[in-house]
Amino acid sequence: MNSRQVSELIWQSFSGEAAWQVVSDLSRFHRIQASPGYRRAAQLIHQRLAQAGLQAEILSYPADQDTLFWGWPSFQEWDCTGAELRLVAPHDQVQVLADFRACPISLIQRSTPFEGEVEVVLLEDGEEEADYDGLDVAGKVVLSRGDVHRVRELAVQQRGAVGILFDGMRVVRPVRPEGDLADARQYTSFWWDPGATTCFGFVLTLRQGQAMRRLLKEGKEPVRVRVKVESRLYDGAMEVVQATIPGQTDEQVLVVAHLCHPLPSANDNASGAAAAFEAARTLQSLINSGQLPGPRRSIRLLWLPEMTGTFAFLAQHEGQMSRFIAGINLDMVGEDQGQTGSSWLIERPPEAAASFAPELLVRLRDDLPGLKGMVDVAPSHTGLGAYPLYRQAEVPFSGGSDHYILSDPSVGVPTPMIIQWPDRFYHTSADTPDRTDPRSLARAGALAATYAYWLACAGAAEANLLGYEMVARFKAQAIEAAQSAARDAAGLADGESLARTMADLDRRLAYLLGRQKAALQTLDRLASTDCIIPELQAEAARALHHELEWAQSAVDLRAAELGLDSLPAPSPQELSEEEQEAATLIPARLVRGPISLAHHLHRLDEQSRERWRQLIKARKDGAFYTLSALALYWADGARSVLEIADLIEIESGKRDVELLLAYLRLVEELGFIAFQ
Ligand SMILES: [Zn+2]
Repeated sequence: MNSRQVSELIWQSFSGEAAWQVVSDLSRFHRIQASPGYRRAAQLIHQRLAQAGLQAEILSYPADQDTLFWGWPSFQEWDCTGAELRLVAPHDQVQVLADFRACPISLIQRSTPFEGEVEVVLLEDGEEEADYDGLDVAGKVVLSRGDVHRVRELAVQQRGAVGILFDGMRVVRPVRPEGDLADARQYTSFWWDPGATTCFGFVLTLRQGQAMRRLLKEGKEPVRVRVKVESRLYDGAMEVVQATIPGQTDEQVLVVAHLCHPLPSANDNASGAAAAFEAARTLQSLINSGQLPGPRRSIRLLWLPEMTGTFAFLAQHEGQMSRFIAGINLDMVGEDQGQTGSSWLIERPPEAAASFAPELLVRLRDDLPGLKGMVDVAPSHTGLGAYPLYRQAEVPFSGGSDHYILSDPSVGVPTPMIIQWPDRFYHTSADTPDRTDPRSLARAGALAATYAYWLACAGAAEANLLGYEMVARFKAQAIEAAQSAARDAAGLADGESLARTMADLDRRLAYLLGRQKAALQTLDRLASTDCIIPELQAEAARALHHELEWAQSAVDLRAAELGLDSLPAPSPQELSEEEQEAATLIPARLVRGPISLAHHLHRLDEQSRERWRQLIKARKDGAFYTLSALALYWADGARSVLEIADLIEIESGKRDVELLLAYLRLVEELGFIAFQ
């Protein structure tokens, strides 16, 4: 059976409507990582898996302040049974502003217990020392739009405030502009930080926040609130649900979806969890009925607390890791594109983890519109040809979900992600099941099932076929790079710039070929013999050579037009002081998995923390997060920081040597890497 026939079978058995029911069921649980609500969601998935005839179990990991899963700290379980915020003065304004029972997102998650009546003080933002000049916040609650961890540090820990009212709403361009969703609340949580003072906090809507700010600015009467929070933090557990479709070898394909997040969080990520469930059910029933043969390798599906669950699972299964041949991450896959403004994306693993995995996923995705019974596909008006009505794209690695851990070369499980982004309702109380679309769930879930089953069955014939696909895609990339250089050359008027264009192309193509060879090499994980990897690699090298010559002919043509006989060698670029320093440092990793500085900042001294805070604040966008992850992925104990910066520049288009140096120095100080 070829992959198209497998796709057809899966597509026809997978029910987007049934997956939608699971989204709706899961969205009724308040699924905070390590909490009773999360546990109930895990039990529901486990029970449904068992009913569908799958081998399933619940794994449990410690949720406390002492456990470390590689470089990722565990944290305590949290339970909240009730919380209310009531405005009690000015007395003509009395009203309930937040009720945990009605909207659990109206509480900052992991708030600690409190009962009492307190005055509210206005902070614009509260992230800088100067914001507190002339303000007395002791014993009061602060109203702020700033980062709640920073506000907790400055207002609560250092100045004695008792709690925080947060009325921010993150802008998500272009689908959630400033001021949008004025009656929704943003998912906000205190993260684990053993050094920090704990406190309570509530999340207001933008509209409530504006009204309260007006009252405070008018200053006619003090603004007072009555607060009651009933909650507790304690040593507990966090669960990972696991289902296995057994194969004949000890190799495995992983399918992961995070099960956590507050009620309702339908798209993020009841959708991924539901799509993975329906994928498991579909495969198992097709195998049971004999329509699909049982796979060679096992397919292991995991529903887990985002990031922490993946770290916990991998740290426990370190001995099996080399047998996990590839994975797929389903995160936010259910979007109704009309409402959320999203596009359906395949996010590639980082280039340091080059492999066959994203190429296979894209190939299978491109088959979808031609499948029988495919929804959301239209014929042209004369009936010739069919095309998708949904938006879709393939994007480079940016991280932010479990594939960020699995794809790390120190883990070695290349894992693309299926996601929809942007999403107007992301991380708010408005991420409800009616924002999801059964067609999106079906597309993502059926594609993931086909991908996992293909990998679980693949042998030498399939590996070689995929190799041909990969080389074809590489050729297209090389042609595009050469053509872009030829186009640039036509607009240049001096020999030095022409020479530089060729040198840049040379560098880019050498990088692409290096990544392609590495990716082709991973086909040996599908078939250790009878695989034509050297032939495929040689063909890629030939294609590169051909395109370089072709681009050179365009450059020569331009040089002749300009009356130049020969091109000068491009002058070497001078290294900055930072780059010189970066050239002398060679980071080697001491711990598996990526390192998030945010979870370890409390172990650093005040000065280091402040420097890092200013550094990332100055960068404004979130790119620092991806760049720092990429830096560790490339760190192999042989490359210098400068070489890593060069690689990241080609991979991401960004060069930030200052950031990489600062990040790696702090990671070294924390003991996760050593400089050689
Ligand atoms: Zn998510």
